Amino acid sequence: MENLPFFKTKSDADIGINLSKIFKGIPSSAGLALGEAVVYNSDPITEANETINPEKIISEIDRFEQAHKYLIEEYKNAIEKTNYQNIISILETNLMIISDHLLKDSVICKIKEGYSVESAINKEFEEKIQYFLRAKDKILRERGYELEHLKERFFDILRNRSILHSIKPNSILVVRSLTTADLINAKEAGLIGIITEVGGIASHLSILARNFNIPAVIGLKYATKYINNGSYIILDGYSGTVILDPDETQLSEFYQKKSKEEAYRLRLGELANVKCETTDKVRIELLTNVDCLEELENSLLNGADGIGLIRTESIIDNPKALYDIESQYKFYRELAQRAYPYTIVIRAFDYGSDKRIEGFPHHETNPALGMRGIKFLLTNPEIFETQIKAVLQASKNKNVKFILPMISSIEELQQSIEIIERCKSELSSNNISFDPNLPLGIMIETPAAVLLADKFAELVDFISIGTNDLTQYTLAVDRNNEYVSNYFNSFHIAILKQIYMVAKAAKSKKKPVSICGELAGYPAATELLIGMGINQLSVAPSILPELKSHILGLSYKSASKLAKKVLKLHSNEEIRKLLKY
Ligand code: PEP
Ligand code: MG
Repeated sequence: MENLPFFKTKSDADIGINLSKIFKGIPSSAGLALGEAVVYNSDPITEANETINPEKIISEIDRFEQAHKYLIEEYKNAIEKTNYQNIISILETNLMIISDHLLKDSVICKIKEGYSVESAINKEFEEKIQYFLRAKDKILRERGYELEHLKERFFDILRNRSILHSIKPNSILVVRSLTTADLINAKEAGLIGIITEVGGIASHLSILARNFNIPAVIGLKYATKYINNGSYIILDGYSGTVILDPDETQLSEFYQKKSKEEAYRLRLGELANVKCETTDKVRIELLTNVDCLEELENSLLNGADGIGLIRTESIIDNPKALYDIESQYKFYRELAQRAYPYTIVIRAFDYGSDKRIEGFPHHETNPALGMRGIKFLLTNPEIFETQIKAVLQASKNKNVKFILPMISSIEELQQSIEIIERCKSELSSNNISFDPNLPLGIMIETPAAVLLADKFAELVDFISIGTNDLTQYTLAVDRNNEYVSNYFNSFHIAILKQIYMVAKAAKSKKKPVSICGELAGYPAATELLIGMGINQLSVAPSILPELKSHILGLSYKSASKLAKKVLKLHSNEEIRKLLKY
């Protein structure tokens, strides 16, 4: 975690103790924990083709139906227990898989063919699991692991086993994998850390752990074999280190880090009401990217100056809602009201590429270059218009802005403006009120948009640079592909020059420009971005306090000097050395 400067990760050699007790996994949720290991081994089926006598078929179907009902209830309860919309969406996706009647019918059919309930479930899931695990796409592989968790949970229910039986306060769970519903229940039972053998940082489990601030280390192979139940563990979710049965030196080091962490967090909380400006009084607006109402409230509590990006496609994933003005309107209105008097930027749906929506099964061999963002919206005008009307209605209090994703040509913008104007006329003729001057912006995410930034700046009210996609489309590197992840570099000089071009174009037309891609939250980039003339940064809410603390110590004068120096460089290596990222 480069954000916490005092958390230098020691190499194993630095630590200089019994190396057999230190393991390294992937840090997936930041934080420190010291607790007792609860090792939970799944109980795999021994016989994949176990058959039963015909007279047992009815009772096996009954066993399956009971387990199925139990699992559905478990998910419904977990959904009831959580307030976070993004977590609810994750749980609902899992619930949808389990409740699918095709799945249920197919398992029953296999039992009728003479397989035991365990074999039938195994056969049903295994084919799908293998299909997903073979996928090149990391996100799809994560779905494979999720199916595996669900399958194992089915087995546990059938055998009356549960992870929860062993969790008590201060437990660190060591497990091959676990379901999202299990995590929610385990958290209630006092879980303070997670170690898994499989999974990735984009998995639903990791997202949940981060949301709940539960430190987690994932991908620690054979963890359930090496770690004994009841051992004491130090878990460092910043570096991915796990220390088994720590000695006194390691314990005292842990307590020191922990108290620094707590003091640091306390100080960040105190910064909420401090104005974000450089030492030479240049005001930098700090905005947040949010996915749900709770994140919005946390952002404002942490002192955000507004909401810089609401990714509506990650909130609205029910295909029916795409055509439902009323429900969208109510949701956007709630966001706008809770943020008032601060402004929110609602982004039009950016479906396509890795952001798929059910009911639009375009099979595309190259989805990142396919039906995505504005192309999807202009091709599906009913969906686009429904969203525009809902946003307009929610804009009555004039604290809503609307932004279009993936714009690459003037025509796309003009067509969108025509549609927006048509929607306004329709609402007016029905006496429905809205903000007639709803500010309209575009995301700059392609080199084409950068080259046209001058013209765009003339036509829109504000601009936001999406450095995630700008990096993907400039460097021809898939942002989700782990094989090329070391080529995905938002500090690449080609990206930095483009940011500067856009900042200059916006300034010349007196239009505000922000950055809402991940780069905005990298501490190594902050001074440079400010020096290039960016004075709005939109970041994940959890980063905001640290970012503010960092900016309060920077001077605009030296930031400009740094920007001039960096923009003269050609080699990425030189940039890396200068910015120390
Ligand atoms: C971006 O591309 O930088 C961006 C903010 O949009 P998203 O990550 O949602 O594609
Ligand atoms: Mg984008």
